[in-house]
Amino acid sequence: MADRPRIPIAKPVFGAKEEELLLATLRSGWVTQGPRVEEFEAAFAASIGSAEAVAVSSGTAALFLSLKSQGIGRGDEVLVPSLTFIATVNAIVHCDATPVFVDVDPATYNIDADSVARALTPQTAAVIAVHQLGMPADLDALTAVTQPRGIPIIEDAACAVGSRYKGAPVGASGNLAAFSFHPRKVLVTGEGGMITLNDSSLARRLRRLRHQGMSVSDAERHRAQRVVIEQYDEIGFNFRMSDLHAALGLAQLAGLDRHLERRRAIAARYEQGLRHIADVQPPAAPDYADPNFQSYIVRVNGAGCDERDRLMDAMLSRGVVTRRGLMASHAEPCYRGAKTEGALPHTETAARETLLLPMYVELTEDDQDRVLQVLDESLEAGFQTTANRNSKGSRR
Ligand SMILES: *Cc1c(COP(=O)(O)O)cnc(C)c1O
Repeated sequence: MADRPRIPIAKPVFGAKEEELLLATLRSGWVTQGPRVEEFEAAFAASIGSAEAVAVSSGTAALFLSLKSQGIGRGDEVLVPSLTFIATVNAIVHCDATPVFVDVDPATYNIDADSVARALTPQTAAVIAVHQLGMPADLDALTAVTQPRGIPIIEDAACAVGSRYKGAPVGASGNLAAFSFHPRKVLVTGEGGMITLNDSSLARRLRRLRHQGMSVSDAERHRAQRVVIEQYDEIGFNFRMSDLHAALGLAQLAGLDRHLERRRAIAARYEQGLRHIADVQPPAAPDYADPNFQSYIVRVNGAGCDERDRLMDAMLSRGVVTRRGLMASHAEPCYRGAKTEGALPHTETAARETLLLPMYVELTEDDQDRVLQVLDESLEAGFQTTANRNSKGSRR
């Protein structure tokens, strides 16, 4: 088994269309934000069903600009799950606002509306709902808590392109939703992000802010028949997406439905295979959720961090790459002492007990069977080594 190539955790898939559009864009001479970005924005908005889509340089930039555009700043508290990639939290801090960590629902790993209700203060200025690993968060439950107070929800949809909540694509709710096109996500441009929204004047402002506050875009100026002198009404940033990235995005969007179908088939097959492996729980999707399976998260019931990490090591030594499931941001040194709603028990358990199995479009059935076999074997071996220390030896 050792001489077979490693099965990676994720792998983007690029085809002839990506190559064709990328090359055409390169040959056009327009490589920074220009006509391809406009085209990608229009196609993305159409696929989501949002009125607007604003392309930016990363998912983090999309979150940061979304918060900025809601006036979030010093003295404001933003409620956020600790159980998320740390970028979500960093975006709050870069706005000079204060993150307040809330707990998650143990079944979906998504923000818990009750924890949000308990964390509200007069300083609460926004809530970030993360659609974690592409599992849609329960927006209606959250809105029931935030709406009476007029608190905006910003969606971290970094992982959730193609996921659906109550039948509608994530990003179509009318909240600002921030997507990422990093290679670990479902639609890949290398680096890149997108904000979807329904408010056209806010979209115009976001487009100015991503480009130094400039009142006209380069593409508009290029098309103009007369000289256009731009104006700067507010101080912006450089969060532009390049046309090269947008070319990839257009090609990836064309393949999205096919890729989603494949991911769902792989997930269904994992679920089937896991029935034969005791103590490992597949992810559970509530009725309202149609996830894109950006990642495939499993829970090793009752595992400690140490055991989970040893299991991952054992799998790696047998040629299967995994990752820890989700991080607890409040446990990282840089957020030590940050404000939390309470003890966050579900966050801490999930951070300890979960791991991600390989999930990508080109994962073959043979390789998937190998993942399951290696998981099973490694569990046996892993728990045997802990048998002397505790009662875990009797679990299998
Ligand atoms: C990937 C990710 C981000 C950041 O996206 P980048 O494009 O890497 O900046 C933010 N939040 C979550 C939940 C993510 O998974």
